[in-house]
Amino acid sequence: MTTTDQMDITADDLVSLVTKYNPKTNETLIRAAYDYGRAMHEGQKRHSGEPYFSHPVAVAAILTEQQLDDATIITALLHDTIEDTKASYMEVAELFGDEVAMLVDGVTKLTNLQLNSTETKQAENFRKLFMAMSKDLRVILVKLSDRLHNMRTIKAMRPEKQAQKARETMDIFAPLAGRMGMQWMREELEDLAFRVLNPEGRASIIRRFINLQRETGDVIQRITGDMRLELDKAGVEADVFGRAKKPYSIWRKMQEKEQTFSRLSDIYGFRILTRSEEDCYRALGAIHQRWRAVPGRFKDYISQPKSNGYRSIHTTVSGRDGKRVEVQIRTSQMHDVAETGVAAHWSYRDGVRSQNPFAVDPAKWITQLSEQFDAEEDHEDFLEAVKLEMYSDQVFCFTPKGEVVKLPRGATPIDFAFAIHTRIGIACVGAKVDHMRVPLWTRLKNGQNVEIITAEGQSPQATWLDIATTGKARSAIRRALRDQDRARFVKLGRELARSAFEHVGRKATDKALATAARHLRFENREDLLARLGSAEITGREVLQAVYPDLTPKPGEKVDAHRAVIGLDAGQSFERAFCCQPLPGERIVGITFRGRGVVVHAIDCDRLSAYEDQLDRWLDLRWHEGSHPAVYGATLDVTLNNDSGTLGRICTLIGETSANISDLQFIDRKPDFYRLLIYVELRDVAHLHSLMLTLEAESDVAEISRYRNMSHGGVETPA
Ligand code: MN
Repeated sequence: MTTTDQMDITADDLVSLVTKYNPKTNETLIRAAYDYGRAMHEGQKRHSGEPYFSHPVAVAAILTEQQLDDATIITALLHDTIEDTKASYMEVAELFGDEVAMLVDGVTKLTNLQLNSTETKQAENFRKLFMAMSKDLRVILVKLSDRLHNMRTIKAMRPEKQAQKARETMDIFAPLAGRMGMQWMREELEDLAFRVLNPEGRASIIRRFINLQRETGDVIQRITGDMRLELDKAGVEADVFGRAKKPYSIWRKMQEKEQTFSRLSDIYGFRILTRSEEDCYRALGAIHQRWRAVPGRFKDYISQPKSNGYRSIHTTVSGRDGKRVEVQIRTSQMHDVAETGVAAHWSYRDGVRSQNPFAVDPAKWITQLSEQFDAEEDHEDFLEAVKLEMYSDQVFCFTPKGEVVKLPRGATPIDFAFAIHTRIGIACVGAKVDHMRVPLWTRLKNGQNVEIITAEGQSPQATWLDIATTGKARSAIRRALRDQDRARFVKLGRELARSAFEHVGRKATDKALATAARHLRFENREDLLARLGSAEITGREVLQAVYPDLTPKPGEKVDAHRAVIGLDAGQSFERAFCCQPLPGERIVGITFRGRGVVVHAIDCDRLSAYEDQLDRWLDLRWHEGSHPAVYGATLDVTLNNDSGTLGRICTLIGETSANISDLQFIDRKPDFYRLLIYVELRDVAHLHSLMLTLEAESDVAEISRYRNMSHGGVETPA
């Protein structure tokens, strides 16, 4: 890596770095990008005072180590041009093609994210956001290399800026590199960040490490030598490597296990690379023969590869002195795959796209990955769960304070509001996305800044149920709507109670209602009123509970008995339910053996059923004069859905001295609702005056008399 750290990488240098692994590279285009980038950044300086362009070139060089394709290298050269220079998307697209322009644009979007993460959970969301925003993983590869170079040169920055960048690197970029399968990059990023965040901790690790080395001598040299000897004896052709772990990973293990700095297995790692799969097992046998295997530490990911395709044997062995070391055994090819990670999809070996088990359609590969994004971050558990597909059904948006909120795709500002807090959702009256007012049904996109506008005393609309997509929002909205309904029902119940009590010359006092509630076994007065308002119980039942003797019982209506003229002596009559004839309307009777006469309106459709039984027809008419308000009729009413409308309507009905005996909601739209109101009336004139009164009311959108002539039956006398 040292070569790429140098500041003066010429176009020739870069081209030769690329051609080393990709002889078919488009040299002209890479040179053109180099010249274009240098020209664009002309005059700009880094914090260190160097020409700015030294940075993109260094990033490109880092990517050549991962043997990436031309588009990625060119993107690295241009990654800061759209953001920081006069270069435009169109121009980059024209000069270097749509693919490069799209990649540069993707990097720019990531650069523009405000990464003020403070919590672990937030960091996790940021990492997911990165994934979700990068439709092409090469965007992340460039961004990671960009961050790596910035971290390598962080000394030039102001101390506060250093700390902030180091925090981001630790929280977001290093784990991301691990997830992308680039273990080396993860370790280097961690170590660079550790250097800034905890220089004392790092220094003490190194000090103790040096002390340990002094005590034990060159452990790596000794152990690799021993291992080579054993493998030779067993006739296994293999390379053995040993390395000391990075200070940060040692420090972290010590933190996790609260262990002292003594275990070699926490400090050194060994790797045996064989020529064939079979040799892996032979090597394992040789190692286990010479050193004792530590129980429970053996894992065979060769016969059982990880979900991401990672293959290797892991074992921990302990020597005579009881010191433990970790050993990984794999073929060189398995090793390549493991080291390159996701970069393998775009990398070249000897001029051809690398052939490895992962070199499949990246999208396919990604879908195969484990969903365990939160999986334990075992040091070697790389490539775990880089599942872009998993995030394609999610969007990540920012609060004005920069917190990330995770939502399902298709989510709207309403979902966002409820995701923050139910209180905010309930009080929501509007939203701004990226500082622009938007309708509440707007679908949110990744990385957008969402601000919810709230107002006191606001309540959710029924339409929101169609707009919200999250379960949380929907159930909160439903609950709020139910509460609103309840308030409405209580009000209506009060009106119904008042009218029922007045009917018998009593007052529906709070005390009377509380008594009724107790008798009817409801929780309290309000509960009773809500049930009355929602027609679960009738006013008559409430009245009966308080004044059993005063309640008019069916059949007690004296005048009503004699209301119809034309019956035979002793013949009783009932009003047909289908047409609900009212005094004053033209009527006809149909006789039923043993049941008296059913009275229909002369225009009732049901009468056609008796057309050929004329002997059953009876000429009838209503008595003239004043009838009691006991004749049921049904009104089909459509009301504006404003708070208080229904209460006002019921009051109006009461004022015309009609009684409401029941209510039935038949349709509920966001702006309107339609319901059937059963009223008890004196006669048809009473009906007409009531309908005129209601029609005059501005909240009544439509009103008509409702007759269900398709159903027969008899009207139960009110
Ligand atoms: Mn940059």
